[in-house]
Order: sequence, then C-alpha cells, then structure tokens
Amino acid sequence: MKFNTKTIHGGQKHEEATGAVMPPVFLTSTFAQSSPGVHQGYEYSRGANPTRTALENSFASIENGTHGLAFSSGLSAIDCVLRLLNPGDEIVAGDDLYGGTYRMFTRLFQKYGLSFSFVDMNLVENVTNAITDKTKLVWLETPTNPLMKIADIEAITKAVKEINTSILVAVDNTFATPYLQQPLDLGADIVMHSATKYLGGHSDVIMGALMVKDEKLAESLHFIQFAAGAIASPMDSFLVLRGIKTLHIRMQRHCENGKAVAKFLQNHPKVGEVYYPGFETHPNHDIAKKQMKDFGGMVSFRLKDTSKAAAFQFLENTKVFTLAESLGGVESLVNHPTTMTHASIPEKERLKIGITDSLIRLSVGIEDIDDLLSDLDQALHA
Ligand SMILES: *Cc1c(COP(=O)(O)O)cnc(C)c1O
Repeated sequence: MKFNTKTIHGGQKHEEATGAVMPPVFLTSTFAQSSPGVHQGYEYSRGANPTRTALENSFASIENGTHGLAFSSGLSAIDCVLRLLNPGDEIVAGDDLYGGTYRMFTRLFQKYGLSFSFVDMNLVENVTNAITDKTKLVWLETPTNPLMKIADIEAITKAVKEINTSILVAVDNTFATPYLQQPLDLGADIVMHSATKYLGGHSDVIMGALMVKDEKLAESLHFIQFAAGAIASPMDSFLVLRGIKTLHIRMQRHCENGKAVAKFLQNHPKVGEVYYPGFETHPNHDIAKKQMKDFGGMVSFRLKDTSKAAAFQFLENTKVFTLAESLGGVESLVNHPTTMTHASIPEKERLKIGITDSLIRLSVGIEDIDDLLSDLDQALHA
C-alpha cells in the first residue's frame, strides 16, 4: 500500500458488529467477561481500548512499523522511552531539542541517575564521539526546532550501530511527519511524535505517539505505558485517526506554502537570516533532500532589527498568523521561541545555540498563500 492510501486505510478495518466505516468512540473504562479471564480481547481501557487500537494500528502503518502506541501527550511518549533505561545509563541527544524534551531530560531524569550529553547532530562524528560503553540511547530530532538543523538519520544510525548494535536510536519525527521521512526505514528503532501537531493537524488535541518495528521493544514499551498509565483517551484517539486521513494532502499544501513563505522572507528588506532546509544554501540541504520528500511547513527567521521591541512589534501585528505556541495545525501560527516555546531553556544555553530575541518561528498553515504573504508583509512594515 502506498503512503497516501495508508493514511486512510492503513491498519484499519470496518467495525465488525455494524460495519461502521469509522471506529466508534468506545467511551468505556471496562469490558464484560463471560467467565473470569474470558473476554473478547479487551479488559480495561488503560491496557487497551478499541478506538485507541484503531489509531495505534494507523500509527504503525504510516511509519512502516509493526506496532504503534498512543499517549496522552508527546512528552508522555518520550517519558515512556526514557523509562526503558536504568540508573547509570547515558543518552546522547541533539543540542537543539524541543524545549520540553530538554526540560524532561535535565530536570526529571537526571536525578534518577541518567546522564545526557547534548551534541550538534549536524555532524555524525559529534554523535559517535559522545558515545561511551554506558550509552544506551541516541535521541535525535530533524529538522530541529526552531533552527531547522538537519541530522542524517541513516548515517547516524549506521555509525551508532557499528559501535554497539544494542544502542537504541529514537527519532522525534514531529516536524517532518512520515509524509516527508520515515526513520524506521532509515534504521532507527523508535519513532516518536507529538501527534498534537501535524498528525492530529487541527489544533484540537494533545497526544503522543511511538512507533517501532521490533516485537520485544513494543512489548517493553507497552508494559511501561500500561504500568505508568499515560494513555490517549478514546475521544482523542478518534480525532487523531480522523486527522491522519488527510495528512498527505495537508502536508502537500504545508510544503508548498512553506516554500513560498521562505522565499518571500529571504527577499524581504526587513528580514535577516531565514532558516529553511529547502534552501540550497542550508548547510545540510543535501541531506534534507536525500532523506525528506519535501521540506515541510516550518520556517524560522531573524529580523534585521535585532531588538526585542522590533520582534514584539511584528508578533503583535500579524492578523492571519496567530501568535501562539504549537505548530502543525491547518492554521498558520507565529511564535517567539525565547519567550514562548523555549523559555524553559536557560538563557546561556539558548544564546549559545542562537535562540535570540530576533528569532521568529512560523508554522505555515494551509490558507491561501496570498493572504499569508500579505499578512507577513504588513506586520513586517508595522
Ligand atoms: C510539541 C512537541 C513535543 C511535545 O509534545 P506534546 O504533545 O506537547 O507533549 C515534542 N517534540 C516536538 C518536536 C514538539 O514540537
């Protein structure tokens, strides 16, 4: 089955009792048993719920995995992966991670004896140089948030596995989505999503996803999900399953609009650097071109006027772009990483990687491109 069919049919079957084309929302906590231990595959909805199962099957299908797991948030999906590890284990992670991931690693897990090194994943050797005999997990994001850096998933995975095949490689694929890149096919062990973003696609749900292709790993993750309890609800599962059915056409338009916005900003007199992996001048454009089908709808840029006041002036004046955290919905959003999504990263760390007051991140939606460009233009001249 091709990807554009998988988003609609992958892992799905019609509901057996009635033939309903969409799975019903099974708002039930528990399931009747005819005799102790005799049931129809479902016992208690923390363990499994049919609406969530339908979504988890879709998750597995769109990432070319064998198993999918749906969580109450993207962060609870990451939390589940980290709980595979033991005190003393080491993790090598990207230095330009989603702020909440960084916060979880440093402020929740460090105190349980896990240690993290954060490296620039632009270069494979930065990753391999950080690996020790205690390393159990490599965590990477590509493209990164908000600087749109690109890591070579295939090369990193290959290099890591050459050192030690038992080191797990996990990829946060939230920005790219499986429409653009499929990390399991490139050798990664775990794909993670904030399904809150493109998979859900309509800014109406918080959810996380894990996809894997190994039976034993799926079992371990499922045990943690069941034992810790951060599951996606039936209603949210229904919403994200519905969202995924249009993922491919939404992504197509996100990519078209993203490209047009990036080009427009690049030529705008008020705009400095533009961060977009589709530009040939992007340091890892060749890798992006190799591992991604297109370049997505996320674009970051700096204003030439580097004052915080200039950034706020722009941010307060967009009308079609809504000033809000999050990304990946049908509507366009604008975000100020320093004060919003990345406020949890200490200022010193932020400045070191280039998250300054003049940096602005756009999640380009699927509105008419003319309205998006004229909105940016009027706000830049405000
Ligand atoms: C939003 C986001 C997360 C966290 O997901 P939640 O659903 O907000 O918990 C993790 N990684 C990336 C790249 C994100 O954008």
